[in-house]
Amino acid sequence: MKKHIFMLLIAPLLIACNNNPKYADYSEYPVYEGSDLELVYSQQASKFRVWAPTATQVKLLLYDNGLEGSAYEIQNMKRSEKGTWKLKVDGNLKGKFYTFQVKIGEQWLDETPGMWVKATGVNGKRAAIIDFSETNPEGWDLDKRPPLANFTDIILYELHVRDFSVSPTSGMKNKGKFLAFTEQGTKNANGQSTGINHLKELGVTHVHLLPSFDYASVDETKLDEKKYNWGYDPLNFNVPEGGYSTDPYNPVSRIREFKQMVQSLHNSGIRVIMDVVYNHTFIGQNSHLDLLAPGYFYRMNADSTWSNASGCSNETASERAMMRKFMIESVVYWATEYHVDGFRFDLMGIHDIETMNLIREALNKVDPTIFIYGEGWTAGGSPLAEEKRALKKNAKQLKDIAVFSDDIRDALKGSWMHSEIPGFVSGIDSLEESVKFGIVGATKHPQVDYSKLIYSKEPYVNNPSQTINYVSCHDDMCLVDKLNQSKPVDATSEELARFNKLAQTVVFTSQGVPFIYAGEELYRNKKGVHNTYQSPDSINQIDWSFKEKYSDIYNYYKGLISLRKKHAAFRIPTQSLVQQNLKFLNVTVPNVVAYTLNGHVNGDIWKNILVIYNGNRKNVKVGIPAGNWSVVCHDGQINMNGIMQVNDTTFNVAPSSASIMYGQ
Ligand code: CA
Repeated sequence: MKKHIFMLLIAPLLIACNNNPKYADYSEYPVYEGSDLELVYSQQASKFRVWAPTATQVKLLLYDNGLEGSAYEIQNMKRSEKGTWKLKVDGNLKGKFYTFQVKIGEQWLDETPGMWVKATGVNGKRAAIIDFSETNPEGWDLDKRPPLANFTDIILYELHVRDFSVSPTSGMKNKGKFLAFTEQGTKNANGQSTGINHLKELGVTHVHLLPSFDYASVDETKLDEKKYNWGYDPLNFNVPEGGYSTDPYNPVSRIREFKQMVQSLHNSGIRVIMDVVYNHTFIGQNSHLDLLAPGYFYRMNADSTWSNASGCSNETASERAMMRKFMIESVVYWATEYHVDGFRFDLMGIHDIETMNLIREALNKVDPTIFIYGEGWTAGGSPLAEEKRALKKNAKQLKDIAVFSDDIRDALKGSWMHSEIPGFVSGIDSLEESVKFGIVGATKHPQVDYSKLIYSKEPYVNNPSQTINYVSCHDDMCLVDKLNQSKPVDATSEELARFNKLAQTVVFTSQGVPFIYAGEELYRNKKGVHNTYQSPDSINQIDWSFKEKYSDIYNYYKGLISLRKKHAAFRIPTQSLVQQNLKFLNVTVPNVVAYTLNGHVNGDIWKNILVIYNGNRKNVKVGIPAGNWSVVCHDGQINMNGIMQVNDTTFNVAPSSASIMYGQ
């Protein structure tokens, strides 16, 4: 309904602005169905076809250089079907660059490399003509996705390409580059594994890369300035970031090196997920998209100002046919050309549900084990009706697409917004129901009192496979800093480590998909900086010397991952199995949550598992079911060979810690 009003208001403006009386509103724009946008290259000819339905004229400009100099040739493109303009240029254009230039009414807009562009010169201003068969590393045709049975088997590790290797302690040569992921046998000063060997040793199944498509904020011609950015400022969605390549001037370099990274991770049994940011562009007006069809790709407010659900001054319009087509084809492109195994949608709540489900369908045709998840929220209001948006509260309508659980995150560690507010693991009670909600993966469970949750008031997913459990990510304070900032005044550093371990124990034993921020396993801190999107390396880099310094933490995290991987009971794929086999104990002590996983659930080798989380900063005695229990996790230690035997109906849980035991 809102959209309808919006169209009525905006239509006269469109006609006035674009001097284009052809279309009353965006829904009337022609839709081009073909898959040959914007360049089809062969050695014999290059065929260009650009969608610019409101243009009065379109030019193609050809260049020898990816950044400088003038065009050596400029040709007019011819009006073709469905709002496209086309031109065939004979001969082998490999090594050349091009842009399109669109005229709206009497006004020539700035040049654009287009939006479907797959290779560019330095800084992504001009499209590059390359032969993609020359971008494949040796053995690429044999590259395979590592096996994956269920989404709940996934362990996500969120990582910034630069953070991974840039520290002098990394032992890696290709600092800040995709190629760092291809370096085997790298070590820190203590001789411990770093880099890809570390990831393998840790046991994560998926590396989730922060934006690694071509973003705008780092000048690729000045990489020696060591400028840092997370990369949430998309420039070219279908091109890898040049700053992470060894030679951003050579269009092939970033493409081949991205593939080498994927291949290397696959060879180590690790899948690769891309953080995709289709919800906005670095700039709105005059972005590479906007220069093709002004206004079309973005939502506007009723007063014709740019809507801003992204908090970055613009938001794209996934519900419009050509933006939808672009998003679907873009993810399929990354999944096929680059063998990417999953996508994390930034501010997914800006996109419409229908587009997200069409993306799922399209990726299912490539490989149904490709994982899709996103932030089920926005960073501001959107003109798109709430019921149409891919929000957390609408997640049941998303098919096999997961959402982040801010419920478990903030229940465990405290408010993301108020860094001084602590959570369950720091000794705060009344958060038990929210922790329980996290344990059942945001599904419906008869023993959870949904009225007592901190955020959601009802289950929002169909199955735990749709829930991402986490306590920290790149946003806001990392876990170490947050726990430190919100600590009780008398808390010791030893206690802070306990809080940390307890938080991640809940994450790794809860139903759903666990997610950690890279370096948390090394007790990473970011010197208390809340939002490090442009902080220097000294704040953001992973310090690999911490692997020795905080070996107790590292071993515990590794133990948690191993526990989860060996025990299918923590990876139950469906809500009904969780309902039947996960039973909360009736615990009378505040700030304690305990439950059992029963009957070899999900094929687990253990018959019954008892899990107790004690958020209190003191020992608690908890009543437990009678039986012979073997304790594998207790007082901040994990030992799968068993720590002690229990044959009693009560158990003493150590302060700020979890106890996990199994019985036959
Ligand atoms: Ca860039």
